[in-house]
Amino acid sequence: MTTTTALPTLGDRFARALPELAVEWRAEEAPDPRLLVLNEPLARRLGLDPDVLRSPDGVRFLVGNLVPDGALPVAQGYAGHQFGGFSPRLGDGRALLLGDLADADGRRFDLHLKGSGRTPFARGGDGRAVVGPMLREHVVSEAMHALGIPTTRSLAVTATGRLVQRETALPGAVLARVASSHLRVGSFQYARGSGDLDLLRRLADHAIAVHHPELADADEPYAELFSAVVAAQARLVARWMLVGFVHGVMNTDNVTISGETIDYGPCAFMDAYDPATVFSSIDSGGRYAYGNQPAVTQWNLARFAEALLPLLDTDEEAAIARATDLLGGFATAYVAAWAGGMRDKLGLPTGLGDEETMDLAEDLLEVLRSGRVDWTTAFRALGRAARGDVEAVRALVLDLPEVDAWLDRWRALEPDADRMDRVNPVYVPRNHLVEEALAAATDGDLAPLERLLEVLAAPYDERPGLERYAEPGPDAGDYQTFCGT
Ligand code: AMP
Ligand code: MG
Repeated sequence: MTTTTALPTLGDRFARALPELAVEWRAEEAPDPRLLVLNEPLARRLGLDPDVLRSPDGVRFLVGNLVPDGALPVAQGYAGHQFGGFSPRLGDGRALLLGDLADADGRRFDLHLKGSGRTPFARGGDGRAVVGPMLREHVVSEAMHALGIPTTRSLAVTATGRLVQRETALPGAVLARVASSHLRVGSFQYARGSGDLDLLRRLADHAIAVHHPELADADEPYAELFSAVVAAQARLVARWMLVGFVHGVMNTDNVTISGETIDYGPCAFMDAYDPATVFSSIDSGGRYAYGNQPAVTQWNLARFAEALLPLLDTDEEAAIARATDLLGGFATAYVAAWAGGMRDKLGLPTGLGDEETMDLAEDLLEVLRSGRVDWTTAFRALGRAARGDVEAVRALVLDLPEVDAWLDRWRALEPDADRMDRVNPVYVPRNHLVEEALAAATDGDLAPLERLLEVLAAPYDERPGLERYAEPGPDAGDYQTFCGT
């Protein structure tokens, strides 16, 4: 029995360009792999036949046990600042890059496995992942994609048939992830730390070839690469802030060069608006709190700049001056993205200035914060207010004179309700809904998960019968997420 010819041909662009960062490796054998969820639209976009992926060979492929001819799975080496402390050698401890493949438009994507067993980077870890957190990454990354936020995507989650020891024994799983690349700030930190300037240059050249081919012939390609990443990350974190997403573990190994959201661990969507919102049980200091995310991104980009210094100028002081200057682009890009996003969320005239937009938005945020108003609900209610029905908004807040004054100011600008509804989601992966779906799936019932995925696939499109998916959770506020994935 062999259907291997139907499996995709995978390229090895990363391992070929950067062998020093790629350790050839194989996945551990999954005793009884079973597909839990397959992203059929994504499979088709990548030219993969869903029926083949569902076949026994396809499922073995999705856990890394059947490697297509010619493919070269590798564990990637990278470093990273974790909660501010530098680890020179992290790397894929439980993940493998299977290779790369093209989508329908000819753009290439990495196919990567998470939970595929110990690698030489595993340190004390068991190399495994469990069903709940891998399904969580599937749900939340696909929700982010549907929201239009740059993200890695999930092709499939496959149960391995092995129990994995955590606080209790839990069913193991492998996530098959798709990303425009897995290059991270931590990749550059690793290359810089190796002291091999040629490696650092090849890594930067590879990043340019993959993400910004137009920069290859620029006068200062590395400075331009840095600026492009600064801009992409500024836009990304602005999108997180606008939708109320808390990543939870913004270590530099989890910051992509592509500007895609990566590594959905203790992430969650904020319910009541509060900049101090933290969900992760291990983030006791609130380093990665909702309101800190832009500053943390900028800090992470400063670490990227440090790694790139030798490529910016042979004179270190000149390189630092150049990097500092370019990093200044972060604040400008962030403000432009956030204010532009707020203009849309509030339906404000596109010609309104950033300052005026921010003044108006910040006054609204203060009303939401003091009333502990649910973020997602508030903006949809404002959409109704823009159509003349202000009661949905008034019902959410405590300080009525204050909100009435704000509404008058805002409505004088004639907000465009249709534009608001196109950018303010009705449905986000609310914590209680995600937990409910994961608990059922862990017990073998995938129906709630499938239903949730359907709802989240069209987040802006309010549909009758889905009211409970739009409501805040019963105990919103005390929710905790765990890193022990
Ligand atoms: P993360 O917080 O998921 O980005 O992971 C941080 C680092 O820990 C990466 O180098 C991972 O490969 C590694 N890691 C996380 N969990 C495990 C595990 N169960 N076994 C081996 N390595 C792990
Ligand atoms: Mg990571």
